[in-house]
Amino acid sequence: MTETDNGTTMKEDYAAMVEISNEGARELGFDDVGTMWRARYDLPPAEFADETDRLWGQVKPLYDELQCHVRAKLNEQYGDEVVPLDQPIRADLLGNMWAQSWGNVYDLVAPGDADPGFDLTELLVSDGYDAKKMVEAGEGFFSSLGFNPLPDTFWERSQFTKPADREVVCHASAWDLDGADDIRIKMCIKINSDDFRTVHHELGHNYYQRAYKNQSPIFQGGANGGFHEAIGDMVSLSITPDYLKTIGLLDDVPDASKDVGLLMSQALEKIAFMPFSAYSWINGAGRCSPES
Ligand SMILES: [Zn+2]
Repeated sequence: MTETDNGTTMKEDYAAMVEISNEGARELGFDDVGTMWRARYDLPPAEFADETDRLWGQVKPLYDELQCHVRAKLNEQYGDEVVPLDQPIRADLLGNMWAQSWGNVYDLVAPGDADPGFDLTELLVSDGYDAKKMVEAGEGFFSSLGFNPLPDTFWERSQFTKPADREVVCHASAWDLDGADDIRIKMCIKINSDDFRTVHHELGHNYYQRAYKNQSPIFQGGANGGFHEAIGDMVSLSITPDYLKTIGLLDDVPDASKDVGLLMSQALEKIAFMPFSAYSWINGAGRCSPES
């Protein structure tokens, strides 16, 4: 079965779900469910869409250059038939099921002399990091900003590794169970750079949740959904060579000439993700509770 076939089998159910969701939204006074989702940002839904377009317009030139570069490199690899230079890039070539981040094709598209000078996954493995130590590193980052350590219950009740005896949803998520101190993460941590960043991201949710626990219940949430995501993502942007040296993972910070590789790998993750997140996430496709 191809991905297209897969979508076809879901089509009728999906259309029915859209119809039911719109009906619910109309009962709540919105035109449709999309309008309802876009109404969560302290400005009229139409203005929110315009503002998103405006902000995206600022980044799009960089995205266009990245897309053009990646397509040219993939064309070198796979040829004109698979990667025509005047067409969008086929999603199945980008190393991620949703084509939402392109980091897995780094080796194919990196500039020739762009070795970042170190491999975080290798550093974590050779330093003997396990799942708990990865989380402790994340906690250490927040402690260095002045936040209190995570409560004992966090360490007792979180899921760091995939249980051997049952199926679980491994998609990383952060939870606030009681609106007080029972914060947890649920992950199936692997010892690699991706999950090292994800730990910092998920803990961003937990620290944010704890920071608003004394507000009245109506204010116990992110300023908006995007804000909740931004806390952890901003923190994971701080996983720089300098930071890795500070926590003893890296002996020497590579000189600035190695930054091109580092910036390219960031772009493949973050810039490539932007149109995906802006034009699917804000429409609700990725919005769920808990924060993930
Ligand atoms: Zn998140």
